[in-house]
Amino acid sequence: MALRLDRLITLHLVSPLQRLSLRAKPAIPILMYHSVADHDESRTRPYYRTATSPAVFAAQMEQLHSHGYRTCTVAQVRTLLESDPAIAARTVAITFDDGYRDFYLNAFPVLHKYGFTATMFLPTAFIGDTMLQFKGRDCLTWSEVRELQQSGVLFGSHTMTHPQLRDLDSASVEREITNSKSSIEQKTGSAVSTFAYPYAFPQRDAEFKKRLRVSLSRAGYLSGVCTTLGRATSHSDQFFMERLPVNSLDDPALFHAKLSGAYDWMAKPQSAVKAGKAWVRAVVRRDPVIGGTGEQV
Ligand SMILES: [Zn+2]
Repeated sequence: MALRLDRLITLHLVSPLQRLSLRAKPAIPILMYHSVADHDESRTRPYYRTATSPAVFAAQMEQLHSHGYRTCTVAQVRTLLESDPAIAARTVAITFDDGYRDFYLNAFPVLHKYGFTATMFLPTAFIGDTMLQFKGRDCLTWSEVRELQQSGVLFGSHTMTHPQLRDLDSASVEREITNSKSSIEQKTGSAVSTFAYPYAFPQRDAEFKKRLRVSLSRAGYLSGVCTTLGRATSHSDQFFMERLPVNSLDDPALFHAKLSGAYDWMAKPQSAVKAGKAWVRAVVRRDPVIGGTGEQV
């Protein structure tokens, strides 16, 4: 079994210290799910797994319910943090990326049972009138999207083709964020105001973030999330709010620690790893002897 250093530190170091601190600033955990299905991810490192088994998902929702959590959509997070910190303290936002059909089959019935809402982010090129696939997994159809929307699920954009946005020219970025928004709006008849950045978020690239923020705002978005670790606070960037990744390995103790903020420390190692990767990419681009074309990095 792989050593879960993040789990070890969270449960045995950060959680006990956190219980000693008296003042906690209001924060809303935004959970990030992908698939709710029994996919075999045994060859993927724990941190990078994106599937949550239906049994684990049901147990996590039961845990939220029994601890008195209520849910809100991503679009409501900011307002709640600013207007009602007491309610925010017992609120969680549940999000799903990539538009997988297993949400319809395995996740929504459980959410519905507890009266929970959720926000689903769609890469619209993979959502069709007939079923398409993304990364080898079945995706929702537009009629299922409409059915879910009528049952209270909020839909947001996850671009059209799920590209590495930072690698695209500005015209392509604009196309990805505006066309995906208008597709969902045309197919559902409802305005789309929230966005999820695909892949690892380049949180240290201030220039890129500034440009993307302007583009998102101009396109009519009001809120958004990314993969930066942590819980959302009133200081979060409204277009790139932090989230907490969840998968089948989140047992009740780790799930509880994530909700209560004891996993937020992971943002720093995550940022350091990203900075290291960015440095390698920069070296590779400059030095053809080390990196060749750099396509494999
Ligand atoms: Zn995605």
